[in-house]
Amino acid sequence: MSTIRAVRGMNDILPDETPYWQYIETVIRQLMSGYGYSEIRMPIVERTDLFRRGVGEVTDIVEKEMYTFEDRSEDSLTLRPEGTAGCVRAAIQHGLLNMAQRLWYTGPMFRYERPQKGRQRQFHQVGAEAFGIASPDMDAEMILLTARLWRDLGVAEHVELQLNSIGSADARQAYKDALVVYLRERAEQLDEDSQRRLDSNPLRILDSKNPDTQALLDGAPALGDFLDEESQADFARLCELLDAAGVPYTVNQRLVRGLDYYNKTVFEWVTDQLGAQGTVCGGGRYDGLVEQLGGKAVPGVGFAMGLERLVLLLEACDTLPGANAQADIYVVSFGDDAQRQAVAATERLRDSASALRIVQHTGGGSFKSQMKKADKSGARVALIWGEDEVAAGTVSLKALRAEDKEQITQQAVPLDELEQTLRTLFAG
Ligand code: ATP
Ligand code: MG
Repeated sequence: MSTIRAVRGMNDILPDETPYWQYIETVIRQLMSGYGYSEIRMPIVERTDLFRRGVGEVTDIVEKEMYTFEDRSEDSLTLRPEGTAGCVRAAIQHGLLNMAQRLWYTGPMFRYERPQKGRQRQFHQVGAEAFGIASPDMDAEMILLTARLWRDLGVAEHVELQLNSIGSADARQAYKDALVVYLRERAEQLDEDSQRRLDSNPLRILDSKNPDTQALLDGAPALGDFLDEESQADFARLCELLDAAGVPYTVNQRLVRGLDYYNKTVFEWVTDQLGAQGTVCGGGRYDGLVEQLGGKAVPGVGFAMGLERLVLLLEACDTLPGANAQADIYVVSFGDDAQRQAVAATERLRDSASALRIVQHTGGGSFKSQMKKADKSGARVALIWGEDEVAAGTVSLKALRAEDKEQITQQAVPLDELEQTLRTLFAG
C-alpha cells in the first residue's frame, strides 16, 4: 500500500529538533513576562473577511497565499496567515481595549507559498501587540524586547535592525503620488510585478527584490522628505531612546508596509545567515487597524517573528544548547529480582528528586546492550542492579561521560544513600 506523507510545506518537528523549540519557547516566555506582556491564544480559523480587512486586499497574503474554504454552513473561513488581525479581533470582541494592553501570542500560521528553506506553508510565529499607547516610547520598548531576545539566544551579532518611518496616511499619500509620477515615466524599466503594483499598491515596489527595479529606485523621491512633523518628531524620539539603550540600527528608507492603517514606525530584524529568507522579525505601528476592524480609534504597535527561521539561525550560529540528552540517569537491571528492586527504587527517586530525568530500561537484553542504550541516552550516570547488588542492598553507580569518569568510575551506593548521592552529584 502507498504511504501517506505530510502535506507539502507542512513539516513535522521531530524529537531531535523539539529541544531547540522548547529552548526558544522558554526563553521567549520568560522574556515576555519580564516586560509585562500577557499571553493570548486565538483560534487558528477565522472568518475570511477578518483578513481581507485586517491584512488588506492588495497584499501577497490576501491575493495569493490564504488557505480559504467553506465550512458546512457555507461560511467562508481561513486558516490564519498571521496573528495581528485575530488578536485585534479578540481584543475588540472582549473589551480589552478600554485600557492599555501588552499582549503576546504564539502558534502555527498558514500561507500557500513556494516551500524552501525558512519558508513553509505551515510555520510558527511569536508575536506581540501593544494597544492604547501612541507615543514612540512604546515602539522603543517593542524593539528593545526583541533586541534582548537576540542577546538571550546568543545571536545578537548576526542580526541587524532596519528602521524607518512611513509617516501619517496623508504624508504617505503625497509620497505615493510623487513616487508614481516618477515610476510611470520609467514604467517600461520596471519588473512585471512592480508594473502591476503601480496601480494597486505602489509602495510595495520599494521592497521589490529585482535589482533593476532597485537601481531605478535610487533616483526616486525619498519617503523621508515627505514625512509630517509629528512622524518626524516621533521617529527622532524613537532613535534617541534606542541610542540611549545602546541598540544600533540602520535607517532604511525603502522599508514599508503598504497598507493605509500602518503608520510611523516600521522595523525589521534581518540576518545574512539564512539566504533569501533573511528577515527573522518584522513589526511596526498600526494606529488605524483597530478602527478598520470595527473598534474604537485605539493606537497599536506590534511585531511578529518566524520561529523556523530562528531555529535555523541558532543552528547557523551554532548557539544551540549542547547535545540534548534525554536523560540524566539511565537505570539498568538483570534478572527478575533485580528489576523489581530497580523499578521500586526508581519510583522512590522520582518521588523525592523530581527534577532529575530518569529513564528506566525496558524490554530486557544483555548487559552490553543495556549499557549501549544507557550511553546513547546521553545520561550522565547509569544505575545498575544485578544479583550482587540485590544481595548487598546496594546499587552500582557508573559515570557515562568522559568528563566525569576521572572522579566517579564505578561505586556501590547503599540504597538509603542513593538519593543524597545523586543530589550531591547533580548539584555540582
Ligand atoms: P517574507 O518577506 O519573508 O515573505 P513577510 O513580510 O511575509 O516575510 P511577515 O508577514 O511580516 O513576513 O511575518 C513575520 C515573520 O514571519 C517573517 O519575518 C518571517 O520570519 C516569518 N514568516 C513569514 N512567512 C513565513 C513562511 N512562509 N515560513 C516561515 N516563516 C515565515
Ligand atoms: Mg511573505
